[in-house]
Amino acid sequence: MLNRLFLASALLLAGYIPAAGQNQETSPSQIKVIAHRGYWTAPESAQNSLASFAKADAIGVYGSEFDVWMTSDDDLVVNHDRIYAGTNIDMEKSLREEIASIVLANGEKIPTLDQYFEQAARMPGTRLILEMKVHYTPEREVEAVKKIVEKLRHHGLVERTDIISFSLHACQRFHEELPDTRIYYLAGNLSPQQLKDYGLAGLDYYMGVLRDHPQWIEQAHALGLEVNVWTVNSEQDMQEFIDRGVDYITTDYPERLQALLKK
Ligand code: MG
Repeated sequence: MLNRLFLASALLLAGYIPAAGQNQETSPSQIKVIAHRGYWTAPESAQNSLASFAKADAIGVYGSEFDVWMTSDDDLVVNHDRIYAGTNIDMEKSLREEIASIVLANGEKIPTLDQYFEQAARMPGTRLILEMKVHYTPEREVEAVKKIVEKLRHHGLVERTDIISFSLHACQRFHEELPDTRIYYLAGNLSPQQLKDYGLAGLDYYMGVLRDHPQWIEQAHALGLEVNVWTVNSEQDMQEFIDRGVDYITTDYPERLQALLKK
């Protein structure tokens, strides 16, 4: 401890450490685990199913991520792909009823966002990491953002939800609607300074982007932004980003990551 204090003082005197609160690496114990599409690699689960959220909640992750589309009749459903594999059902061009009849790998049906939120409201220990998918037109995105915000408010989940999107347009609209909500951008093509200028909470980027831009984690922290990285599944990759001090790691194997963080 004394050695660390001495080292910190020495570095501070030498001008290597910027002002307090800036440029802090996140220590392993502070790194937060996010289950990608819920804990779907658990037994009897499926991506974006109600079970995947419940199973993520049961192991005590920080947050559980899921994907949201607006249907042709302007309702909202929880699913990853635009076209559900093995069908020709396009999430945006199909009716809610038709989509909600699709049976998932674990026997559940694709949940509506209302069903997903109803369950999540009963499981207050897990944060919701809501990804809004990129829709066909900006107009549809505006409508989808509006409806998602309405449902978050209706279910009392605004304070428990972080928003992510590949659509910068959607991120901006969410920020206008919910100025106190943390919003993270996914597409990897904007620097921390650009994200800060858009008023976003941080970056949620693919591993390869953070390898191509090794300075972005530090830059983000110096700007008061947070860093999430996806989809980190091998122990080797997990350890790399633990060591690099990101704030969140999004993984298909949350228990593997939890075990590594405890070491
Ligand atoms: Mg997603």
